[in-house]
Amino acid sequence: MYIGAHMTGPLSTVPIRTIEIGGNTFQIFSHSPRMWKVSVNSKDAERNAFIKGMEAEKIKNDKVMIHASYLVNLASPNADVLEKSIELMKKEFELASLLKIKYVNVHPGSGLGESEDLAIQRASHSIATIMEEKPKDVELLLEIVSPKGGNIGYNFHQLKKIADLSSYNLYFTYDTCHGFDAGYDITSKDGMKKLMGEIDETIGRDHLVMCHLNDSMYPLGVHKDRHERIGKGFIGVKGFETFFSEEFFRTIPLILETPGDDKAHMEDIETVKKIIK
Ligand code: MN
Ligand code: MN
Ligand code: ZN
Repeated sequence: MYIGAHMTGPLSTVPIRTIEIGGNTFQIFSHSPRMWKVSVNSKDAERNAFIKGMEAEKIKNDKVMIHASYLVNLASPNADVLEKSIELMKKEFELASLLKIKYVNVHPGSGLGESEDLAIQRASHSIATIMEEKPKDVELLLEIVSPKGGNIGYNFHQLKKIADLSSYNLYFTYDTCHGFDAGYDITSKDGMKKLMGEIDETIGRDHLVMCHLNDSMYPLGVHKDRHERIGKGFIGVKGFETFFSEEFFRTIPLILETPGDDKAHMEDIETVKKIIK
């Protein structure tokens, strides 16, 4: 199995700390996620140490990802924000390629009160623009989001529509907290059947290549997006047992975005390993 966490701290230490917490994959921000400014070539030594660490720890480049900046909104009605978002995504791709990280994960965006159809069209257009100049060795992941704040992409039909309208081959990330927030009840067998059915009739499971593994601080379908430690939220240990009864979710990388530091993530990884056994 592939498991790990969203890692902060110095880039060069991410591979070794991943192993230390019991993981073999991870997600990172490529730069401060709340700043527009990115200096791609400023830290050569740090970048080289990271690449060496990946080789030394035998972490697979095609099981790891960069999470794009939180400032990116590919569906923004504000022309200035939209342009800056597209430029920043190009930098994320450039950094992923330099770091030999295969995937860049992004939220489809928010129309900030505009109609969902318009937001979906705008996001698709932005995505087509960034995909035009995409480095060949990097792929784009669209993450399922919580239905709040005008977000689009909170179900697989929307994600599929965004990808189709862009006319590019995109990949996808499932997030167990966001999905739960959107009403996908992964704690019941029926809910799992519905989830897999929806994936199969839209994007196809061969295009769902990553999973953010988070428990939820709030009950099913309440649109809050608050992540909780594994087993301590409304999904719970029993819920994750049902989730992992679907073989498919044991095969794709599971990345924790749960609260806490490396130690908390180490404990969560242990919890997940116990659930899957
Ligand atoms: Mn995310
Ligand atoms: Mn997520
Ligand atoms: Zn979230």
